[in-house]
Amino acid sequence: MDLGIAGKWALVCAASKGLGKGCAQALAGEGVNLVVTARGADALEATARELRAIRAGIEVRAVAGDIATPEGRAAALGACPQVDILVNNAGGPPPGDFRDWDRDAWIRALDANMLAPIELMKAVVDPMMARGFGRIVNITSAAVKAPIDILGLSNGARSGLTGFVAGLSRKTVARNVTINNLLPGPFDTDRLKATMAGAAQAAGKPIEEVMAQRALQNPARRFGTAAEFGAACAFLCSAQAGFITGQNLLMDGGAYPGTF
Ligand code: NAD
Repeated sequence: MDLGIAGKWALVCAASKGLGKGCAQALAGEGVNLVVTARGADALEATARELRAIRAGIEVRAVAGDIATPEGRAAALGACPQVDILVNNAGGPPPGDFRDWDRDAWIRALDANMLAPIELMKAVVDPMMARGFGRIVNITSAAVKAPIDILGLSNGARSGLTGFVAGLSRKTVARNVTINNLLPGPFDTDRLKATMAGAAQAAGKPIEEVMAQRALQNPARRFGTAAEFGAACAFLCSAQAGFITGQNLLMDGGAYPGTF
């Protein structure tokens, strides 16, 4: 299927690795021009080179910076001639015990995983509505639907974002601007490996063993791939997806056991 978005511009945040990179790769494959961001310039430049090689003629601009800061967001927005597609993403907050989290820890989580995406949406939705096209996808987490106790910072910040999007997405869709959230379950990325390394250390087992066991617990008997995640993101950004808004699409191999 031709997704009908060739030649559009997308800002894909936190895209040097993992799920953000998967989204950028899928959009590049559709002929979308990209601004990609990440904090580390070297990994980001390497990713930008890979993205340029995916499809001839697309433009890929790499902007190093922290998307959780006003400066990082201004640099990213400034590099994008117009934002037709916005993929909001940032690193997830650390796991832990809520008794150890002070106000600063909460503010850091809220800045990265709730307020940064809200600020970016605020910057782009009105111009998108004026042009009559916009697609916004927020990478959140399966923890929004089924909270994970040690990820309380993530559960809290992402649920706040989800509630905000539920309201805004109904205000923009009449102008063909959709806003949806993609909820990753376990995907094979550096973030997952870091989480598993902690679990392996706690259990006194090699990380490979813990990861293999964890993968088998999923109904799909494996972890998801960034390419699968990116393909779903690209569809939500397609011309054909204009009637899908305010949704929380869970991608978890069937791990969430509910009917709805
Ligand atoms: P990852 O660690 O593999 O990649 C994260 C990317 O974000 C990297 O490119 C990194 O440079 C960039 N980044 C991090 N913080 C940034 C910031 N403040 N500004 C700019 N760039 C930043 O992570 P991932 O697995 O791709 O996860 C992406 C998001 O999805 C995270 O918020 C994570 O918590 C969430 N998530 C992931 C999984 C999973 O299984 N992988 C599951 C649930 C939720």
